[in-house]
Amino acid sequence: MMPGNLTYDQLKNQVSSGLVDTVLVCLVDMQGRLMGKRFHAQNFIDSSYAETHCCNYLLATDLEMATPEGYASSGWSQGYGDFVMKPDLETLRPVPWLDGTVMVLCDVLDHRTHQAVPHSPRQVLKRQIERLREKGFELKAATELEFFIFEKSFDQIRKGGFRDLEPISGYNQDYHIFQTSKEENIMRPLRNHLFNAGIPVECSKGEAERGQEELNIRYDAALRCADHHTIAKHAAKEIAWQQGHAISFLPKWDQHMVGSAAHVHQSLWQAEKPVFYDPNAEYGMSALIRQYLAGLIKYAPDYMLFLAPNINSYKRFTSGSFAPTKAVWSIDNRTAGFRLCAEGTSAVRVECRIGGSDINPYLAIATQLAAGMKGIEERLECPLPAMGDVYTIKDAPALPITLRDAVDALSASDMLKEALGEEVVLHYIRAGEVEQEAFNKVVTDWEIARGFERS
Ligand code: ADP
Repeated sequence: MMPGNLTYDQLKNQVSSGLVDTVLVCLVDMQGRLMGKRFHAQNFIDSSYAETHCCNYLLATDLEMATPEGYASSGWSQGYGDFVMKPDLETLRPVPWLDGTVMVLCDVLDHRTHQAVPHSPRQVLKRQIERLREKGFELKAATELEFFIFEKSFDQIRKGGFRDLEPISGYNQDYHIFQTSKEENIMRPLRNHLFNAGIPVECSKGEAERGQEELNIRYDAALRCADHHTIAKHAAKEIAWQQGHAISFLPKWDQHMVGSAAHVHQSLWQAEKPVFYDPNAEYGMSALIRQYLAGLIKYAPDYMLFLAPNINSYKRFTSGSFAPTKAVWSIDNRTAGFRLCAEGTSAVRVECRIGGSDINPYLAIATQLAAGMKGIEERLECPLPAMGDVYTIKDAPALPITLRDAVDALSASDMLKEALGEEVVLHYIRAGEVEQEAFNKVVTDWEIARGFERS
């Protein structure tokens, strides 16, 4: 057990001794954010630990918390009823960066039937984990979080109209110890508080841009990995806010700079043995990893929307950047969508490098798992690894690199309809359309500057 995790009995003791007075009761929304309520700890241990409620628009909204039409599950016509939030007490943990506070994540249930709400991100992932368990396997995953730290705070930047975006550092800080020392007022508490909250932080490092950092968390069972990602992202913003700075997970905030990714590492296990490893096979790759990887490649267009859910996500995919645009795999090539890591060792695994820092980790992991499982089911042949410049490979399947194309690819995906359920797929197609419709209405600065005088 990690030092941070709390049992319910430990919580009761901490409440009676006055150590804890506040419980954050949270669900994870479609955008991968924590939403919920702050309970007085006494109320939580007396009654709310069993369940509480929230408005069901929380899983039918957008980044700005609008109430868009067109979701079958909730809307004005159904009067926006309630969900049940059911605390998953396994996720109980201290929140060391806030005084007297602990946190619990919830599963989301239908108010009347108490059945799991199928489009709830945690449930989407749980369903795929269950399907995999039926085949006798477990997925272990890791996500890498990249983000930018800014000189100013969120409020200062917003009040300035998002114009004054100055990263905290003046130069490329890839692996740079001196520059990142200047960011330790944020990064050290982030690493330590997360660790003390039961999240196994491995390291942080400077990334290849001004003010860009990466946080690595040790791989874990898939649901825990997604929980860790979500809490770490939340903590990064909150701790930066406490220090008077902003941290942004927008994938591309300046077209002249590198974007932020969220690479996803995946390996399958059986009885705590890594089944992606075969010591006698080329690169140590078992037949299973070859089929899983072939599934990831074949179905990459289907789940692209879950790797790039917003308009801005697609701004990363320009050639010459490190963001991949082709569904190919390679052993050491960072422009390929999938990279084989730790070849020839028992840690051999697939790293998907397509996703941006705005992924919802539950949905990104669940849909990749569905694709990998389908590859195993279909006993797909793994293509040859890409060597050299990926852009020159003919017949390399292209990824949808606009939001519209990704929505279309998801709409056409029988694989995901079968794996996730059709209503879940329709729900997220609608989310993609809502994002596109919101953007279509906007006149951007670029259009004004380009055409005001010259058109
Ligand atoms: P790199 O920096 O080359 O991408 P790292 O060794 O730093 O690779 O590992 C990156 C991530 O992969 C870490 O979060 C680590 O916990 C995770 N990882 C290591 N082994 C496995 C595995 N067998 N399955 C899934 N993830 C793993």
